[in-house]
Amino acid sequence: MRCPFCHQDNDKVVDTRTNEDGYVVRRRRTCCSCGKRFTTYERVETTQIRVIKRNGQRVPFDREKLRQGLERACWKRQISDAQISTLIAQVESDIDSIFETEVESQFIGERVMQYLGELDQVAFVRFASVYRHFQSAGDFAKDLGEMLEDPDEVPYYLKRLKDSPQSRFSRANKKERP
Ligand SMILES: [Zn+2]
Repeated sequence: MRCPFCHQDNDKVVDTRTNEDGYVVRRRRTCCSCGKRFTTYERVETTQIRVIKRNGQRVPFDREKLRQGLERACWKRQISDAQISTLIAQVESDIDSIFETEVESQFIGERVMQYLGELDQVAFVRFASVYRHFQSAGDFAKDLGEMLEDPDEVPYYLKRLKDSPQSRFSRANKKERP
């Protein structure tokens, strides 16, 4: 690291600490040329991707908002904070591997539901009820009823997901053949 005082690239780290629960590493450095001290911070690069909402508006991807939605869906369920963090990381990784700068909010919602469905059926239904904008309370009760009759059965949303979002979105991202 180049020294901010004498601009020589000749320093050594004298102290390393983590803060913000380990998400930030702080390094105290000393310049071997002029003897002055300075500090650097290291953190994970966050996704700068933008989300295209249903109305076409573009907003920055908001991990905390997603976490809040998941926490509401997982309320009083046997799902740990670590599992929620892992789920978010999986979704972010999917976004990063497929999209460059922008992603449809629909893709995020459907990926979240896919992973949530593998974790917990109740949390899945809660999230889906908000996400899918159920037409009426009757639809919601009917869907829930079908799911509870056979809890081992794969929810029909996931059946639909199997051949829909991935192929659809990968198609959307592919260039058309001449
Ligand atoms: Zn220096």
